[in-house]
Amino acid sequence: MDRDFDLIVVGGGSGGLAGAFRAAAHGARVALLEPGELGGTCVNVGCVPKKAMWLAADLAHKLAIAKQVGFDLPDALPALDWPAFIAFRQRYIANIHQSYLRRLDEAGIALMPVRGRLAGNGTVACDNGVGLRAGQILLATGGHPWRPDIPGAGLGIDSDGFFALAAPPSRVAVIGGGYIAVELGAVLQALGSRVTLYVRGERLLNGFDADIAAQLAEDMRQQGIRLEFGQQLRGLAGAPGAVAVRGGDGREGDVFDSVIFATGRRPNTGGLGLGQAGVALDGRGHVEVDPFQRTSADGIHAVGDVTGQLALTPVAIAAARRLMDRLFGGQANARLDYEDVPTVVFSHPPVGVVGLTEEAARRRHGDAVTVYRSGFRPMLNALADVPQRSLFKVVCVGEEQRVAGIHLLGEAADEMLQGFAVALKRGITLADLHATVAIHPTSAEEVVLVS
Ligand SMILES: Cc1cc2nc3c(=O)[nH]c(=O)nc-3n(C[C@H](O)[C@H](O)[C@H](O)COP(=O)(O)OP(=O)(O)OC[C@H]3O[C@@H](n4cnc5c(N)ncnc54)[C@H](O)[C@@H]3O)c2cc1C
Repeated sequence: MDRDFDLIVVGGGSGGLAGAFRAAAHGARVALLEPGELGGTCVNVGCVPKKAMWLAADLAHKLAIAKQVGFDLPDALPALDWPAFIAFRQRYIANIHQSYLRRLDEAGIALMPVRGRLAGNGTVACDNGVGLRAGQILLATGGHPWRPDIPGAGLGIDSDGFFALAAPPSRVAVIGGGYIAVELGAVLQALGSRVTLYVRGERLLNGFDADIAAQLAEDMRQQGIRLEFGQQLRGLAGAPGAVAVRGGDGREGDVFDSVIFATGRRPNTGGLGLGQAGVALDGRGHVEVDPFQRTSADGIHAVGDVTGQLALTPVAIAAARRLMDRLFGGQANARLDYEDVPTVVFSHPPVGVVGLTEEAARRRHGDAVTVYRSGFRPMLNALADVPQRSLFKVVCVGEEQRVAGIHLLGEAADEMLQGFAVALKRGITLADLHATVAIHPTSAEEVVLVS
């Protein structure tokens, strides 16, 4: 049986759902294929459960500070009832699923709980035997966690496994130094685990500002997290629940209840019939797209993590919406501008970043770069005599001192950044920051007062 649509969306995660809704709003007849839970990585094993865990960890930090400034709390601070919290988290996620189902129904989108494969000439073969045909196809199949091919790798878990934990492990090794490693490690430490981070390189958060990464490493050490840099792991040994990590020297090292790989992600391109359909991959195995999200095959487009572009939910959403505005909304030039996308690392404290790092700005603009920084203790930390400091950096370029990068590590950086990202995108200068009256007493005022 073949059924005709204007658009077939393969994958019901951040990008796929956004594309389906926007196309339907423009009047297109849309089919959406999703064999798993609606919402994909972000809703089920990414941003949403991660932020829930971060919020719990943040409360744990606040409890410790509350005790320090005089709240009558027991010496052994109350621990999180992990299963109870997970139930709250999953209820929240179940509500999101329900809301998507309702909205899909209202938008008249045909949801099919099946896996799809390109079958040529605008058709998609579903794994239930149904064939679908459409003028346009959107690939939004996302990615999956990847772990290195080392002996015993199966003894570890990955970020998907972290979200399935029924109880917090007491001793944890997190393998990796990227944002997911930092976030999961910091959450577990705050909630009572003893965490060691094994990092292959000599720093955290490659690609982020080096000073911010160094300050974050210092903050993590103050929280009791052990950071092991320069660790090229040889393998894992033992049994689940007692896993030994074998370091670069080949000796079996410390034993952990749980080892979590946060060693990167790979695009979901397998079994999609890409080669047969003429969809080219880039050197890293992602679906290659042009600035308009077009693949090398006519009528086939791709957005989100399956492409090599910025792997962030709002990026997948924005790219999909612009694409549908172009395909079905009469906006011939609509496309996402991938420059100056703000992003946050939900560490403790969080890191917020938009624009060029100091290193990237100097590579691009040489001596025309001026960097302003502010290092300080946020008020609550100072009141409680907690050593953790904030570090803000503003990177400016040229005689007019255009603000090209803002890098914030500190309390509330996650909520602070969005407004400054608008300003940076609008091309503000240092003089514009200085012309803005500060809000006192806040951490945010340090951004407009940098000198
Ligand atoms: C631990 C973690 C934390 C994260 N935190 C953040 C964060 O704080 N902020 C942020 O912006 N981003 C975050 N991300 C990244 C974010 O989750 C992704 O960038 C986003 O989900 C990408 O959306 P997508 O639509 O490309 O893919 P996905 O959301 O992964 O959706 C792809 C969907 O396609 C389906 N699919 C796959 N193959 C097929 C097929 N053949 N047929 C039909 N369907 C198929 C899958 O089942 C899946 O549901 C995080 C990711 C992880 C892993």
